[in-house]
Amino acid sequence: KTFDSFGLNPALLQALASEGYTTPTPIQAQAIPDVMAGKDLLGIAQTGTGKTAAFALPILHRLAANRVAPLPRTTRCLVLSPTRELATQIAESFKTYGKHLGFRVAVIFGGVKYGGQERSLNQGLDILVAAPGRLLDHLQQKNLDLSSTEIFVLDEADQMLDLGFIKPIRQIVSRIPAKRQNLFFSATMPSEIGKLAGELLKDPVKVQV
Ligand code: AMP
Repeated sequence: KTFDSFGLNPALLQALASEGYTTPTPIQAQAIPDVMAGKDLLGIAQTGTGKTAAFALPILHRLAANRVAPLPRTTRCLVLSPTRELATQIAESFKTYGKHLGFRVAVIFGGVKYGGQERSLNQGLDILVAAPGRLLDHLQQKNLDLSSTEIFVLDEADQMLDLGFIKPIRQIVSRIPAKRQNLFFSATMPSEIGKLAGELLKDPVKVQV
């Protein structure tokens, strides 16, 4: 299998070629077609398996297939990530794979000033990668409105549980329209994470690597 066989946007194939990616990893081969088709996904996978590209590529494809200018303080896709480091890596991946698509990508986490984050939210975003605590602050400050968000990704759900983020996640998700695509990733499936997945996902495709 090659990346060409998925029917991905040529701008994505061009970016992959310049990164030197030739062959999809197992999670990419299993996830990309279903995520491109708009299905919900439950991915049991660790970091290092290529899971970031497994969601970033089909998300970029879908956003490009139906371009709309994001309104100020909105985002078309929201990715929640437990830490500043992971959130930054994910945002960098979206920028790298999407470099020929011209999307607005931002990353938000705690421990830094609010002003720069407020300004980037105010522009309107295609893709926002965020840690839950600071994102909730911005929602409460009305710096962000999730009522037009189309795609929701929860990454490293088991780490979210360990860090005490399950309640903030539920509060954030309650502000996204029910008609959305959900992608849920976790390395392990403790019962509380299984329960959260059951609440969030609608008829998901399951991929385990
Ligand atoms: P991740 O599991 O998403 O953290 O990705 C692990 C590493 O593998 C990252 O450094 C990616 O740049 C790299 N990678 C992801 N997919 C591929 C691929 N299909 N071919 C080569 N490298 C890849």
